[in-house]
Amino acid sequence: MSDFDFDLFVIGGGSGGVRAARIASELGARVAIAEEYRYGGTCVIRGCVPKKLMVYASRFAESFHDAAGYGWSVEAPKFDWLSLRGNIHAELDRLEGIYRRNLSNANVNVLDGRATIVDANTVEMDGVRHTAGRILVAVGGTPFVPNIPGHEHVMISDDMFLMDTMPDSIAIVGGGYIACEFAGILNGLGVKVDLIYRSSQILRGFDNEVRDHVAQEMSKKGINIRTDCDVEQVEKTETGVKLHFTGGTTADYSGVMYATGRVPNTHSLGLEAVGVETGKNGAILVNDQSQTNVETIYAVGDVTDRVALTPVAIREGQAFAQTVYGNMPTQADYDLIPTAVFTQPEIGTVGLSEEDARNVGEIDVYSTSFRSMGHIIGNRDERMLMKLIVSRADDKVLGCHIVGEAAGEMIQMAGVAIKMGATKADFDRTVAVHPTAAEELVTLK
Ligand code: FAD
Ligand code: NDP
Repeated sequence: MSDFDFDLFVIGGGSGGVRAARIASELGARVAIAEEYRYGGTCVIRGCVPKKLMVYASRFAESFHDAAGYGWSVEAPKFDWLSLRGNIHAELDRLEGIYRRNLSNANVNVLDGRATIVDANTVEMDGVRHTAGRILVAVGGTPFVPNIPGHEHVMISDDMFLMDTMPDSIAIVGGGYIACEFAGILNGLGVKVDLIYRSSQILRGFDNEVRDHVAQEMSKKGINIRTDCDVEQVEKTETGVKLHFTGGTTADYSGVMYATGRVPNTHSLGLEAVGVETGKNGAILVNDQSQTNVETIYAVGDVTDRVALTPVAIREGQAFAQTVYGNMPTQADYDLIPTAVFTQPEIGTVGLSEEDARNVGEIDVYSTSFRSMGHIIGNRDERMLMKLIVSRADDKVLGCHIVGEAAGEMIQMAGVAIKMGATKADFDRTVAVHPTAAEELVTLK
């Protein structure tokens, strides 16, 4: 037995921390975990899960519209936000309970409260000190809002799940995952949405054709995308907010949400006192074993600002626990991570964009855009996009990009093939599943 209270103390009960705590304990370590808000973390409580439930809710508007083409008459449907909010929170309570139970069942000491680091082997919670052979920092990130005049009047993504009323109109500032997803959600729920982005096209970093396609489809659905538009000031008004844009114009909305990125949650954590090195925006610097420059302190997930996705935080937590407590050296693999953006229409993507692939070598691009069968008699004016980027040298598929219904589901499977090194010829010799949209992937010419 060591002299420490625990072998491992995990700070943060989100995706990465919970996985690490559970696996380490199952491998025989004496583990405690601290969470200052709710177990499940960003993903379960104020991220992926409630967001996706709101995506489902918002899609009904179009389904009711499509229904007419299929012979259904739907009398003027009504939406009740408080009913949806209540159902979402009941589901989050259920999931948090499962997270707590799974930790307890794995013999992890589940603590509630904020933990700070005192020294390389000590954390403090509510004045009580706990010692541990190792400390794992898994505190995630928090929304970043630029410090412009009136910034205190803006909402952030966390607020979207707690609102008492749906605004009539909203400005969403930002052009990344969160801004674009919430633009679709709120638009679908009947809110008039302006998406305000500082540069020339939303979703920087994604394939350019995908960006243009999604922006066009979002606009067709009624979202007003204002590019090359920057906010200088937010003024509170009797009915909501007035935004002052660079150039002197203004616009009034019921509310404004900022989705201008997230920063690591390292503020006041005690890292400086113990000498843990941090980088841009306070991100904890780690090696490929997730170990910091302080031997006993490790970090996983968004706080390290590697790839801010739940499955990645989980993989990092698992790799840490297996390496340190299971004698199974494991590293998270960052190559070819499939991802989905739950815009409307949805994006699924894995591998290189056309632009990045051109910088690597000679490529062939196969792309098609079409109206999917389900939308034709539903009379929905929405087009899908399917695109493969193929290396001319060895026929390997370097990137796959899908925009449209179930793109997230499709890209998971395409990701398996591409991870295995599939060539375009492999795609072509796979028999199509008919009639589906996905069959386009194996018939691209
Ligand atoms: P977190 O899940 O953020 O967990 C950190 C936990 O630490 C939090 O619960 C926090 O309360 C706690 N904490 C912080 N400081 C302390 C302290 N000092 N003491 C005790 N506890 C502390 N990813 C996807 O893959 N798919 C998606 O669809 C998706 N949608 C998203 C939607 C939104 C709106 C947001 C904001 C994020 C979304 N993400 C999505 C990203 C995903 O949620 C994060 O990548 C993931 O949660 C990171 O996990 P983590 O363990 O690093 O941190
Ligand atoms: P992103 O980094 O994706 O996007 C931030 C956006 O804000 C960019 O468009 C950026 O513009 C803009 N921006 C940054 N600073 C400013 C500023 N000062 N003024 C105006 N605009 C600004 O962050 P998100 O907050 O959308 O999401 C955080 C991360 O969470 C994502 O990157 C993703 O990893 C994860 N996530 C994943 C989801 C999923 O898997 N479906 C869903 C939601 C989040 P520019 O492009 O010009 O830099």
